[in-house]
Amino acid sequence: MTIFRCVLFDLDETLIAHETAADRAVEEWAGLVRGDVRGAAERWRQISAPHYARYQRREISFPEQRRARVREFFGRMLTDDEADSLFAQYLPLYERAWSLYPDAIPCLARARRAGCVVGVLTNGEREQQARKIDRFGLGAHVDHVICSSDLSAGKPDPRAFAEAVRIIGVSPDETLMIGDSLENDARGALAAGLDAVLVDRGGVHADSGVASVTSLDEVEFA
Ligand SMILES: [Mg+2]
Repeated sequence: MTIFRCVLFDLDETLIAHETAADRAVEEWAGLVRGDVRGAAERWRQISAPHYARYQRREISFPEQRRARVREFFGRMLTDDEADSLFAQYLPLYERAWSLYPDAIPCLARARRAGCVVGVLTNGEREQQARKIDRFGLGAHVDHVICSSDLSAGKPDPRAFAEAVRIIGVSPDETLMIGDSLENDARGALAAGLDAVLVDRGGVHADSGVASVTSLDEVEFA
């Protein structure tokens, strides 16, 4: 078994359940704004992914990806202020629905006990991701929090992984990336010379050819 000096964890849907939170929040929001929740969660997810990916490629800013998602979701021409104020109704509903996966802290603690430096590498904006980390007390279990908003590009761009290991002071080949996204976390990390474990909670990527677990409880470090 490889002994790693450093373990990087993705945040959303790896340590924190955010998709379920987003689904519940979107239904509540759609109900408030347009009185119709049918298909809202699924539609928001489909709309959000490409706009968020454009932000990760730095084609648009963080506020612009929010506005683009709101405009497409409601199918209306909205000024920036109107889109911002609609998003401001969604945000507290989303934040209230965050929850911590029960296997998260035990896994972070095992990594530490195995002598690994523990980092979070997340495709998120620092302020929002810091709020998640604070809310669930993850800071006590993590040595470095690296957000893509601090980097030249988000995952799966190899620069995200190269810059993260440089910040921490380790090399790619002594670093393990653990995350729920096959492309962003697992394949991205492998392409950048790290090792990777895919957290496939739903068991949907069984044929991916990538090392995977269905729970963080299955991850061993030494
Ligand atoms: Mg994730």
